[in-house]
Amino acid sequence: MDDTIVKKIAEIVGEDWVASDEDMIAGYLKDETVPSLVPECSQNSIVVKPADTQETAEVMKYANKNKIPVVPRGSGTGLVAGAVPTKESIILSTERLNNIKEVDTENFTATCGSGVTLEQLLERLNEEDNIFFPIHPGDEGATLGGMVINNAGGARAVKHGVMRNHVRGVEFVTPTGEVIQAGGKTLKNVAGYDLLHLIIGSEGTLGIITEVIVSVEPEPKHQATLLVSFENRQDAISAVPEIMKIGSKPLAVEYIERDMAEMAAEHLGENWPAEKGNVDLMIVLAEIEQDLLYDIAMKIETICQELGSVDSVIAERQEEQDSILTVRSNIDTATNKEDLADDVDAAVPPAYIDDFLSDLLEVYQEFGAKLSAYGHAADGNLHIYIYKEDGEVPEYYQELKKRFYETTLKYGGTIAAEHGIGKTKKEDMPMQISEYEINLMKNIKKVFDPNDIMNPDTIF
Ligand SMILES: Cc1cc2nc3c(=O)[nH]c(=O)nc-3n(C[C@H](O)[C@H](O)[C@H](O)COP(=O)(O)OP(=O)(O)OC[C@H]3O[C@@H](n4cnc5c(N)ncnc54)[C@H](O)[C@@H]3O)c2cc1C
Repeated sequence: MDDTIVKKIAEIVGEDWVASDEDMIAGYLKDETVPSLVPECSQNSIVVKPADTQETAEVMKYANKNKIPVVPRGSGTGLVAGAVPTKESIILSTERLNNIKEVDTENFTATCGSGVTLEQLLERLNEEDNIFFPIHPGDEGATLGGMVINNAGGARAVKHGVMRNHVRGVEFVTPTGEVIQAGGKTLKNVAGYDLLHLIIGSEGTLGIITEVIVSVEPEPKHQATLLVSFENRQDAISAVPEIMKIGSKPLAVEYIERDMAEMAAEHLGENWPAEKGNVDLMIVLAEIEQDLLYDIAMKIETICQELGSVDSVIAERQEEQDSILTVRSNIDTATNKEDLADDVDAAVPPAYIDDFLSDLLEVYQEFGAKLSAYGHAADGNLHIYIYKEDGEVPEYYQELKKRFYETTLKYGGTIAAEHGIGKTKKEDMPMQISEYEINLMKNIKKVFDPNDIMNPDTIF
């Protein structure tokens, strides 16, 4: 990048907080996307780390005036290349906005810099007696800013919804450098258009979140993790809607194929406790009374037995539960990404997950493709791979993906459940969203970002 620009930005944030050296920026040119995307023209980008909102706003004003692309970046755990620059850009990292300003145990909120990671927030909340933050995407390294801007979901959406349901307010710097406060600590707020919920899920295309106010919840004191095993995927998946009818929602209902669990366990040096059968449901229960928790666990075991489960294990000690969750969370990390052509993140209305998966299996069989799935079964949201063959993206890939999406949409589903559109799914978006709606979205972006500097090539 031009030296004058680097110098000017260094005047704003300080020399130590601008990196242009190839080695220093290499890690900022990619994220966790499959397959990894590192466009060559982005190599001359610079990484800029403002200390606060004021510096962020000044960087944005300068970038806007000089029409320099800006790519916001949290921890780079995104799976759709949202934080990956496609041209020479200012990569604006929020890593120094990492202050947990306040945990308000009266209003049940936490106010944090957008660069605070989920892990940091959870650690801080552990110091309090009785509260927790329920939203949990698989990688605790994700920042709160990244989670808000992607409207992250994760395993506990079944009981607690997604990020959108737990954000009360944000401080936000627009591409022209204005600072706005959207929302706040109140539970109700209908003053004007809801900018907060427009920003949530905007994938870094409308500006930069600098501060987040999230809702925290009273912590249910008793938690257990049930691992129920089945011989085959149909038996396991058909049990999920029935489990949801017992009256008290589990914290999570995850579907895990055994070979994937064992691969992740081996990768981590952990043990996967289920032995019989081939697929497992991981059901996390959290209740305020122990007796109630046991009662629900027994009901679930009975329902599953009636539907063909072959075994079940209950983990009550925290370490055992953490180990199971860690293995589940690391299926993606442990998977050799070189083997994958795509990792599809579709969702259907939860009650249709069984029929959807059966239809999809038929589609995969038509192509002679291998189907592996894991994920948030009770949300109707499974992560399903399309594999390479002999190290190459198979010729049928595009056609299989199209049929995959058609099957999803037939059930009233979505082609992008929680990872976003980013840079990798935008060609697919017209299958679900009309041209009129896409143009409406583009026009909204223009209002925020008249010079089109904000996260180019993302969503559109
Ligand atoms: C192992 C693993 C498991 C995962 N499991 C889940 C899951 O279960 N559910 C789920 O929803 N996601 C999951 N993810 C995806 C990922 O963790 C989330 O998308 C997360 O929200 C990204 O946060 P981040 O800080 O890493 O953002 P980044 O990857 O750095 O950025 C993601 C996007 O957000 C933008 N952005 C980041 N910070 C800001 C900001 N402050 N202001 C404006 N824009 C910003 C970037 O420009 C980019 O478009 C998983 C990822 C991994 C690696």
